Amino acid sequence: MTKELKTTIEPSDITAVEITCTHCGTVISQQISVWQNNMAQCPSCNTSWMPHRQFLIYIGDIAARLRHLTSLPKENPGPSISIRFAIRSEDEL
Ligand SMILES: [Zn+2]
Repeated sequence: MTKELKTTIEPSDITAVEITCTHCGTVISQQISVWQNNMAQCPSCNTSWMPHRQFLIYIGDIAARLRHLTSLPKENPGPSISIRFAIRSEDEL
């Protein structure tokens, strides 16, 4: 017998994205529900984040899609499906 521990999350489980300024260590938690793509610099030390602008835009796009996914009606016609994301286990780190 083999036992496997697997952790999964649903899209609605993702509520925020944390961004850490590697210059000063400030951690910003952006809620998915109110994500805004206006982060041009660290609000704490004012280090420009413009070199990472494209990455932040991608994250904002993901946030918008997650908001859309979680706002869809739970009951759709046709076969039901459930979407879950697998989380890397401690063994895989
Ligand atoms: Zn900073």
